[in-house]
Amino acid sequence: MLIVQKFGGSSVANKERIFNVAKRIIDTHNAGNDVVVVLSAQGDTTDELIEKAHEINPKASKREMDMLLATGEQQSVALMAMAINSLGARAISLNAMQVGIDTTSTYGNARIKTISRGRIEHELDRKNIVIITGFQGVNKYEDVTTLGRGGSDTSAVALAARLHADLCEIYTDVDGVYTADPRVVKDAKKLNEISYDEMLELASLGAKVLHNRSVEMAKKYNVKLVVRSSMSDAEGTIVKEECKGATRWVVKSYSHNLKIIA
Ligand code: ADP
Ligand code: ASP
Ligand code: MG
Repeated sequence: MLIVQKFGGSSVANKERIFNVAKRIIDTHNAGNDVVVVLSAQGDTTDELIEKAHEINPKASKREMDMLLATGEQQSVALMAMAINSLGARAISLNAMQVGIDTTSTYGNARIKTISRGRIEHELDRKNIVIITGFQGVNKYEDVTTLGRGGSDTSAVALAARLHADLCEIYTDVDGVYTADPRVVKDAKKLNEISYDEMLELASLGAKVLHNRSVEMAKKYNVKLVVRSSMSDAEGTIVKEECKGATRWVVKSYSHNLKIIA
């Protein structure tokens, strides 16, 4: 199987977590799969970079902001490749320019247009685990772009679609999609599955567990998507076309809970 695994910022926030993730990736590879990994910047790195930029120039151009913010993801992929290599497996890190992830020109909110498969497939053929920067792309001016906050989910799903991956796993700091934000609503229930359309509604209501566009893309290309925790083996939530038993109430419950919070 070809599996795309995406790990969010909290999942790679420090040395222990990087090694925890590295072991999970190696286990997947050792089970006989080709593995493409997509990473976000560590912990609060992206917020810290934004603060840093504002200290220097509160009116910094969007182009320079993207140039700066993209460095967060580049740190993560290099560190992860080092961790995997230190554990005796073979990994190589690649940024968006090296892969060829072409986007529209809009700095700060670019959309993926095309992804080249050549370099990734070459590395997979060489039995490498391929670790790719999320959130970033390259535009027609050969400048770095970013996909908007939370955009690494979209990088992962786009890569899964382009590579015809058998599965796209989104690893995060909760063990699946809930009826409401589990950090805010204590009796929120975990869902075993949810349809693309309902997930899209949740995402547009502000459930940041999946970036809006990643769900749009998963629906469009019928990507098999699972949201699960990087810290446990709990099963997670499958996001797919149709679910048995309409879960319309989930979206209602979600917006209801949002009102309580507001
Ligand atoms: P990552 O850094 O892994 O991309 P995010 O912080 O972007 O993680 O998204 C995960 C967070 O989404 C969770 O910590 C949780 O607080 C929040 N969240 C909001 N709504 C939901 C929901 N309905 N189900 C699960 N998590 C949710
Ligand atoms: N690092 C970026 C952000 O904080 C992208 C992501 O995490 O998905 O928004
Ligand atoms: Mg996120």
